[in-house]
Amino acid sequence: MLKIGSHVSLSAPNMYLGSVMEALSYGANCLMVYTGAPQNTIRRPLSEMKINEAIDLMNKNGITKNDIVVHAPYIINLANPDEEKRSFAVDFLTKEIKRSFKMNAKQIVLHPGSAVGKDLDMAIKWIADGLNKVIKNTEDLDVLIALETMAGKGNEVGRSFEELKRIIDLVQNKSRISICFDTCHTSDAGYDIKDNFDTVISEFDKIIGKEKISVFHINDSKNLPGAKKDRHANFGFGEIGFQSLLDVIYHKDFVNIPKILETPYVSDKPPYRYEIKMILEKKFNKNLISDILEG
Ligand code: FE
Ligand code: FE
Ligand code: ZN
Repeated sequence: MLKIGSHVSLSAPNMYLGSVMEALSYGANCLMVYTGAPQNTIRRPLSEMKINEAIDLMNKNGITKNDIVVHAPYIINLANPDEEKRSFAVDFLTKEIKRSFKMNAKQIVLHPGSAVGKDLDMAIKWIADGLNKVIKNTEDLDVLIALETMAGKGNEVGRSFEELKRIIDLVQNKSRISICFDTCHTSDAGYDIKDNFDTVISEFDKIIGKEKISVFHINDSKNLPGAKKDRHANFGFGEIGFQSLLDVIYHKDFVNIPKILETPYVSDKPPYRYEIKMILEKKFNKNLISDILEG
């Protein structure tokens, strides 16, 4: 069955339960959450997160572990040249994985890191070292760490399949590592998502193995392939376009893999209910933006 959802918020008073209610209100059957604000590491205690209520509601609606994705905050950088900051990142990520496990999530998406000192080789080694430590710290937890394909802005690591593969090669327990494939990021990184997705996937398959993809981020891009910008556009309203994104979503090799929309809000209104409808109907709605504004 097609798994389509979006990232949803997690905030007081309903916390994780509210995240699930939000996902259901969009007609989603999978979801992605940050365990708190994505730009900081302040986190509420699990006891306040309404986890049991959330899981109950998911069970009632057929949303299971496979459909639940956590995203790590993007400020943690396993490749930070400062040793203390790297060790903070390892500790924080360890706690995030423990939280993800309690939240019944199958995976946590991680931006591999940023080569602050511009030394890519060193950055890759530090990222892999960090992953090895985190995996050891959470040995008995079946939560995947899904490394995200990056757009290549600044000194982001993971902007090519080869870079991701170099990280994976240095990880001891590879069974805990998977890939989050972001359509905007890979297009911005220079892969031809718009016209040659099958070729891109066969290249990915040769380098990493397509069975490693455990989640897709489905975003259109405001920029042309190779722009290295990372600016998401609403579904069908960017340079990748409606049909090409639909082809990714309905690709026969990834039927049961969650597809998560991270498209931008339109004047503070979430677009997801409208985008999911368009995706399920497989019919482009050229009035999407005004429908969102009026809804
Ligand atoms: Fe991300
Ligand atoms: Fe993403
Ligand atoms: Zn992005």
